[in-house]
Amino acid sequence: MKYALLDRGDSLSRELAETFHKLARERGLTSNPGSPDLIVSIGGDGTLLQAFHSFADRVEDVAFVGVHTGHLGFYADWKKNELEELVSLIASTEPQKVSYPLLHIQVVTDTETKSYLALNEFTLKRPGGTLVAQLNINDEPFEMFRGDGIVVSTPSGSTGYNKSVHGAILHPSLEALQIAELASINNRIYRTLGSSVILPKHHHCDIVTDPSDDLSLLVDHLTLRFQGVRSIICTVAEQKIHFARYRPHPFWNRVRNAFIGSPKEILSQNFPRKTFVDLSENEENK
Ligand code: NAP
Repeated sequence: MKYALLDRGDSLSRELAETFHKLARERGLTSNPGSPDLIVSIGGDGTLLQAFHSFADRVEDVAFVGVHTGHLGFYADWKKNELEELVSLIASTEPQKVSYPLLHIQVVTDTETKSYLALNEFTLKRPGGTLVAQLNINDEPFEMFRGDGIVVSTPSGSTGYNKSVHGAILHPSLEALQIAELASINNRIYRTLGSSVILPKHHHCDIVTDPSDDLSLLVDHLTLRFQGVRSIICTVAEQKIHFARYRPHPFWNRVRNAFIGSPKEILSQNFPRKTFVDLSENEENK
């Protein structure tokens, strides 16, 4: 088993990285940053996004595992005090591989087409002004968007930026992409659906922009500036990201723990004493 380790760069993550290397050596694991089988990310979900982009060209050949320095994350699902258990499992067991869909983005300009993969999402904005773009679904005009921007997310990214703009949360076993609006202007000229749209793998969307606009394209944590963009084609990627699962960590438990609370906290909330009005006792309804 050859592994590569990426840490967030802060003192705690670096310290944990040193401990990981020491434990790994003791267990006979080899550090091989150039040609790893397993990518270990130590920091947070943001660190795993960086690790993904460092190995995006080899994504089908590697598996990822994430250690969180704080609370449990969505991608980083091991805690800092569990390093010894994790290393021991890596050295002794064959993990379950869990695969999540990715987003494929093609940016078409007058001169070239550039491709990117996203683990969370792709966000389109026009710095210094409102974005005006035509959204086509399967090559048919769907709506004319005017507003702050458009977020196209993967199922696992649906708990990130997409959630903050009221998109739905999708289970990562669904091969789909979700299009959500950022503060759309709705009037007689510009009309958008207002709710997020979820496309299956065999559908695609094109965001057609004005080539004279200066655009900001955010692919996960990376910000790219473009001019001369004619359209951006978004599809569910053929490639997937693979996670090495050494123990179960169900997606809905992660969603609940991140946004609602632990089962104990939920059960400690009492039901309201009277949950409905008994209509038969209400004089006005007799
Ligand atoms: P950041 O601004 O430093 O952190 C963004 C936060 O999002 C961090 O708390 C990160 O968790 C968390 N996060 C990352 N992926 C997530 C996921 N799939 N589900 C739930 N939470 C997630 O930026 P960053 O760490 O480089 O991460 C970039 C991501 O930030 C983008 O991909 C986007 O999803 C998100 N973002 C959100 C908003 C918003 O909600 N308004 C705006 C811009 C970007 P950790 O603390 O564990 O790293």
